Amino acid sequence: MAAPNRSGTLTAAKEVRLYPSRFHYEAPRTIDEACQMMAYYRDDAKVLSGGMSLIPLMKLRFASPGTIVDINNIEGLDYIEEAGGYLRIGALARNRAIVRSDLVRSRHPLMSSACPTISDPVVRNRGTLVGNCCHSDPQGDWVSVMMCLGGEIVARSVDGERVIPIEQFTTGPFSNSLQSHEIAVEARIPGSTNYGEYHKIERKVGDFATVAVGVALNIAGGSVSHCGIALTGVAPSNLKCYDAERAVMGGTLNEGTIEAAARAASAAASPRSDHRGSEEYKRTMVEVFVRRSLRAAAGIRAA
Ligand SMILES: Cc1cc2nc3c(=O)[nH]c(=O)nc-3n(C[C@H](O)[C@H](O)[C@H](O)COP(=O)(O)OP(=O)(O)OC[C@H]3O[C@@H](n4cnc5c(N)ncnc54)[C@H](O)[C@@H]3O)c2cc1C
Repeated sequence: MAAPNRSGTLTAAKEVRLYPSRFHYEAPRTIDEACQMMAYYRDDAKVLSGGMSLIPLMKLRFASPGTIVDINNIEGLDYIEEAGGYLRIGALARNRAIVRSDLVRSRHPLMSSACPTISDPVVRNRGTLVGNCCHSDPQGDWVSVMMCLGGEIVARSVDGERVIPIEQFTTGPFSNSLQSHEIAVEARIPGSTNYGEYHKIERKVGDFATVAVGVALNIAGGSVSHCGIALTGVAPSNLKCYDAERAVMGGTLNEGTIEAAARAASAAASPRSDHRGSEEYKRTMVEVFVRRSLRAAAGIRAA
């Protein structure tokens, strides 16, 4: 096939085809069946949920699993519900459903604020919160949100079920504490929060974060009973800002505590200068976003 070049003449266009390596495909109908398959194939297998990260990686041959265990035919894994004091998000609940969920918005406004910033509608139609956490991309947004809210991942295998707090789940860039035979079946988030906001700077709509800051609070009787602050894109992994959280926990939000939290979050970040922005710019934006969120939460008008 011919294509015009800059000078307007026709040249032979190079055709680039990206195919994954050959793999064996399994499509279990139940979660028990899927667990048995994972127990059988172990390190050789990868779970497929939305496929929005796994399939591109396979096409680029950065990942070449021998077997794909596609969990999309398992019924009943796409729930978003409240039970036992938790907001429970099933492994096949798509980002699109999370964006549209009134339950999510009413329990944790941070989730509804963050979700529309994840890629574009095409990716959100297929991609899942649980898959995003399992992918453990240090620039992924859901791990930061889960960190703000004290979220946990429920893992299932032939050995039973275990619950992993998100801070213990992610162990570094693209790595987590799931064992090779385990399947993450649910993300669960305790209680509720009455304020939450996710600020994200991206080079273009749908891009990963240059800097993103999640803030979730529960304010009861004028006092902060829950504070979660986490950062994306400004450290080797998603970063929970314990010092910043402590600066506002248990007291009222005022200019002094807000300033202390904003500075602590900025100090905790370890951004690198790159094509997305300088270290100083990223650090400053962390401070600005934490301050802006906490002021909004306190009903203080931003200067
Ligand atoms: C163009 C583009 C832009 C994007 N932008 C953003 C962005 O701005 N922010 C952001 O956070 N993400 C972004 N993403 C990633 C996107 O959100 C993915 O959907 C997400 O990372 C993976 O979720 P998934 O359900 O598609 O998982 P998959 O792609 O199916 O799987 C990803 C990995 O997790 C494992 N896995 C998946 N589900 C399970 C499970 N239930 N149990 C065990 N292991 C599992 C897989 O084996 C694989 O290793 C982008 C992706 C694309 C293609």
